[in-house]
Amino acid sequence: MDSKKTVLVSGGAGYIGTHTTVALIEAGYDVVVIDNFSNSEASALDGVEKIVGRKVVFGEIDTCDIKALRGVFERHAFDTVIHFAAYKAVGESMDEPLKYYQNNLVSYMNVLEMMKEFKRPNVLFSSSATVYGNAEELPVTEESPRQPATSPYGNTKQIAEDILRDCCAAYEGFRGIALRYFNPIGAHPSALIGELPSGVPNNLVPFITQTAAGIRQSLSIFGNDYNTPDGTCLRDYIDINDLARAHVAAVDRMTDGRMQTRYEIFNVGTGRPVSVLELVTRFEKANGLKLPYRFAERRSGDVPAVWADTARANKELGWKAERDLDDTLRSAWEWEKHIRHIQ
Ligand code: UDP
Repeated sequence: MDSKKTVLVSGGAGYIGTHTTVALIEAGYDVVVIDNFSNSEASALDGVEKIVGRKVVFGEIDTCDIKALRGVFERHAFDTVIHFAAYKAVGESMDEPLKYYQNNLVSYMNVLEMMKEFKRPNVLFSSSATVYGNAEELPVTEESPRQPATSPYGNTKQIAEDILRDCCAAYEGFRGIALRYFNPIGAHPSALIGELPSGVPNNLVPFITQTAAGIRQSLSIFGNDYNTPDGTCLRDYIDINDLARAHVAAVDRMTDGRMQTRYEIFNVGTGRPVSVLELVTRFEKANGLKLPYRFAERRSGDVPAVWADTARANKELGWKAERDLDDTLRSAWEWEKHIRHIQ
């Protein structure tokens, strides 16, 4: 890239934020990270700095605090924001809906408000495959219908997509891309950054790695009586580094003026369904260990199967998932060993 552009990354100390920050810097972008460490740690940014070999511009800012956010816009000239900052625990969102609507929507609207006020054009929003719900046709394309959300968390993703669409339609110069993530897993190959779940992990791969580390006794596989080849759920597990590169491709597209409409949506997955049981077996083989697991009841709210049609992202973003699943599963274990000081 000839002239470096700057990207504001909210929630940049989180799992997806750290990997994306690395990918952006490696692609030649300057990055300003903001985070309030509500579900992340400052040490995550140390990992980013070690990987890229330089300091990262950072502000401890809560995006719900519009005054503090305005200060960031006054101090830094960027055209693009990637908005990751959000709560993400589906179960908790059912118990505390207001906490989720308040945090996830207020922070997001503050960011949009500032983009408008400071005439900064490009917004990249982290959406989720959860918007497809229990899809009738698989794989899902971006045109597949969204299903009514089954949790406040999922609902914030749908509402936020709609808000972005409406802003792009209404405000001159506003451009938006929503990336619908499938199941991001794994860690940076350096094992210097990765996922840091607090408490008992909800997600499959952190639960697997914590079980392998002896922190959890046994993995429960939720349901083996689904109408799928081995009875366990099918998901589209996407390597976190591939996912991070999709953000770079989307930012490139926005800043190079290649968008065909002012609001675009892309699926970010591999296009390959993998069952829970297969993932467990692959994890064991890739890392040469045995994982204690048992079959348990279905988890409420889980859909039997969802995976991505990635044709649009492949063609329009010029991006595709590349990393081998076994390498990804090795990276997940390397990261767990790193944070637990296991040899
Ligand atoms: N899963 C499981 N045991 C766990 C956690 C998850 O069997 O301890 C299953 C879950 O039922 C789903 C898949 O793993 O079929 C992926 O779940 P995750 O929570 O990682 O992502 P989701 O697809 O729900 O967003």
